[in-house]
Amino acid sequence: MSTAIVRKPKELQFLETLSKRKRFTSKEKRYYFNLQRGFEGELLFSQFIGKLKNDSIILTDLLLEYNQTTFQVDCLLITRSKIFLYEVKNFEGDYYFDNDKFYKKPRQEIINPFHQLSRAESILRQMLLSIGSNTPIESYVVFVHPTFFLYQSPLDIPAIFPNQIERHVSFLMREAGNVTATERRLASRLVELAKKESPFQKLPEVEYAELNKRITCAACEGLSMRLVKRTCVCGVCGYKESVTTAVLRSISEFQLLFPNERLTTHRSFTGVESLYLRTSFTEYYQQILNRLGQKNGLTMFDRFVSGRMHREVYPLWVLSYSKFILAINRFYLHSLNKVLS
Ligand SMILES: [Zn+2]
Repeated sequence: MSTAIVRKPKELQFLETLSKRKRFTSKEKRYYFNLQRGFEGELLFSQFIGKLKNDSIILTDLLLEYNQTTFQVDCLLITRSKIFLYEVKNFEGDYYFDNDKFYKKPRQEIINPFHQLSRAESILRQMLLSIGSNTPIESYVVFVHPTFFLYQSPLDIPAIFPNQIERHVSFLMREAGNVTATERRLASRLVELAKKESPFQKLPEVEYAELNKRITCAACEGLSMRLVKRTCVCGVCGYKESVTTAVLRSISEFQLLFPNERLTTHRSFTGVESLYLRTSFTEYYQQILNRLGQKNGLTMFDRFVSGRMHREVYPLWVLSYSKFILAINRFYLHSLNKVLS
C-alpha cells in the first residue's frame, strides 16, 4: 500500500499563524491564499495517488539541488520501472494557451507550468544519473481543481486534467509493479539529498508590537476566547479548551513567528498571554498586597515586585490561609478573564 504524507510547508504554517494576529495587506493576502491553495492541491492529489494498492513509493514536496540549481518537486512516484514526476497545480477557472504562453482569462500571463515541469525533469534526470540511476522519468502537470479548464490546449502537452486523474491512477495500478530494494535505496538517497530549507524562502520579519496578543480559538481562529472556570470557551463557535492547552498553543505560535528568540516573560508568547496575565495578575497582587500592607503596616508590593516576595510572604500568614488562597484564586481568575476578553 502506498502512503503519501504531505507536510504543510513551514512558510505556510508561519503565514497561517501570523494571519490570526495581524491584518495582512492585499498583496500579503493574495500570496498567502495562493500558497494555501497550492498546498490544498497537493493534499488533494495525494489522496488520489494514495489509493494505489501496489507498493510504490511516494515522495512529496522535495527540494532538490543539482549543479547549483534548486528545484521543487511536488510529487514523485517511484515505481519498479519508472519514476513519475508530478507538478501539481490547483488553478481555478478558465485558462488558455497562446504561443507557448499560459494565461488566466481574460488575459493575465502566468508562469507556464509545462516549462517548470520540463526544467524540473531535466535537472532530476541529471541528478539521478549522478547517483547512478537511469530509471526513465515520465512527467506530468496535474490540474486538480474541478473547475479548471484549459482552452486551446495542444494535444501533446503532458497534462492530467481533473477528470483524468482517476483514470491515471487506474493506469498506475495496472502498470506499476511492486518496488524492490533498489527503488527503496533510490528513494532514501533522494530524501537524504533533499534540502531542508528553501533558499527562496524568506519569511517576513514580524513586528511584535503590531500583533494581536489574545488567545486564538483553535477551531475557528477567532479571538474571542473567554475563561469559564478553568476552561477557555470561544465566544464565536463555542469551542472549549483547557487554559494550559491554550497557553501551550500560544507558546508554540510564538516560537513559530520568532524562531530565534528565547522565551522570556517580557517578550515571548509565554509572552503574549502570560506576560499580560502577569501584568494584570501583578496589578491585582498590588491591590491585595497594598491592602494587606496597610492593614499590617507593611509595604509588601515593593518587595513583591523586586522578586523578594517569595521569601517575605510569611507576614501574610497573619491572615487566615484559606482567605488568602481564595482571594488569590478569585483575582487570578478575574485577571485571566481580563486577558482573554
Ligand atoms: Zn471558535
